[in-house]
Amino acid sequence: MLIIYSLIIIFAFLAFSTLMLNNYRNTQIRNTEIRLFQTANIVADTYKGNLEDIIFARIMVKSYGKQSNSRILVIDSNKEVLIDNFNSYIGKTINNKEIKSSLDGKSKSGLYMTDDKDILQLSVPIILNDGIKNKIIGTVLISTSLDSLNKDVEELKGNMLKIAVSALVVSLVLTIIATNNMTKPLRNLSYGVKRLSLGDLGYEVKSKTKGEIGMLIQAFNNMSHRLSKIEKSRKTFINSISHELKTPLTSMKVLIESLSMGENDIEIYKEYLSDIYGEAERMEDLVNYLMNSIKLEDIILDIKKEDLGEVLEDTVKLILPYAEKNGVALSFNNSKNIIVKCDRDRIREVLFNIIDNAIKYRDEEKEYNWVSITLEKSKNKAIITVEDNGLGIDEKNLPSIFQGGFRVLDESIGQGFNIEGYGIGLAIVKNIIDKHNWKISVESSLKLGSIFTITIPL
Ligand code: ADP
Repeated sequence: MLIIYSLIIIFAFLAFSTLMLNNYRNTQIRNTEIRLFQTANIVADTYKGNLEDIIFARIMVKSYGKQSNSRILVIDSNKEVLIDNFNSYIGKTINNKEIKSSLDGKSKSGLYMTDDKDILQLSVPIILNDGIKNKIIGTVLISTSLDSLNKDVEELKGNMLKIAVSALVVSLVLTIIATNNMTKPLRNLSYGVKRLSLGDLGYEVKSKTKGEIGMLIQAFNNMSHRLSKIEKSRKTFINSISHELKTPLTSMKVLIESLSMGENDIEIYKEYLSDIYGEAERMEDLVNYLMNSIKLEDIILDIKKEDLGEVLEDTVKLILPYAEKNGVALSFNNSKNIIVKCDRDRIREVLFNIIDNAIKYRDEEKEYNWVSITLEKSKNKAIITVEDNGLGIDEKNLPSIFQGGFRVLDESIGQGFNIEGYGIGLAIVKNIIDKHNWKISVESSLKLGSIFTITIPL
């Protein structure tokens, strides 16, 4: 690319300088021609005025020849040289186009280029008026070498070449620096893409570049961070799933082993088999969860206009028996006629999950367990809150609960250890909420309870 630019610059410069030099040379030749015509006319006048005094005329011609750095011949009407400032042609007869033309009354000039010399030659007629008519009595032939002019042009050419080469070098250096600066962020980006493709998820391209390229780099960095987060949560998820699968598998193995070892009563067999069945069910649940979460990645929402209050009421009705069974008081403050665009089934799934958690993570040590659900409408949004006085979540774990595979109870509260779950529910909730472009947030304090808030733009 750089070579092409340089060639374009060189050709443009060559064309421009050739044109300019030609122009300059032609103008200079024209000026010399004008100057020589003036001198020839002066010589013709001087000769006319001193026809009687040829010696004086010769002195004058010599001095004009010296002044104008040219050879001057005064020739009579028979083409015989009368005066020559170099003396060598005196008495000789010469003839050429210029002499012929001026003896016919017309001034003429001619440019002669030989291998070693360029010569400009011109002639003017010497016209004498005897009071009645004009008579051509001879001609002044003047010729000069264009060597010094050619030398000037060559010198100019040399100077121009020097300037051009320096300008070209400077412009090439500047172009290289500018191109380098311009492509640097792109090279950094391509290095980033390489690192990412080699598995360095989370790699960040450092750049202060603004504009389109800056935005591209920003988008790359966001993608890289997101990929790194996904990878992290995938690992946590697999860890947690492996752990969850291992527990029922180990208990099944132990149960089968102890059954196969002794001769037991049929009652013991029944009890152990029912335990094994329970563990198998737990595994089945887990597999169902997994399939759900995988399916969720590519769900297509079936968006329709829905009355949000109705959707919420349906869900509460469905879960009420479960709350009653577990001694949790469910209060519900509903608002009707809030029409939103959503996928009814998916939103029911979201609400069910959050309310289910609020009941599931109740604090058994408390005398009175409650869950309060509200739906409110303000100017440009609707807000659903699900509040409980359950176990609560440690503040440091709050940012992670929407990540797939995250369960905090196992580590923080001994009591929660027995609560079943796979840490996927809230990840699914978040996914559905994001796909609706709604927002979900949580506030919680350990041992006090939690508030989940869904904000729906209207
Ligand atoms: P799980 O299947 O474990 O319930 P979720 O994704 O639904 O998975 O929830 C993730 C974690 O967030 C749960 O393991 C639990 O520790 C915590 N959590 C969710 N909701 C509540 C709540 N209302 N009260 C206390 N902890 C909660």
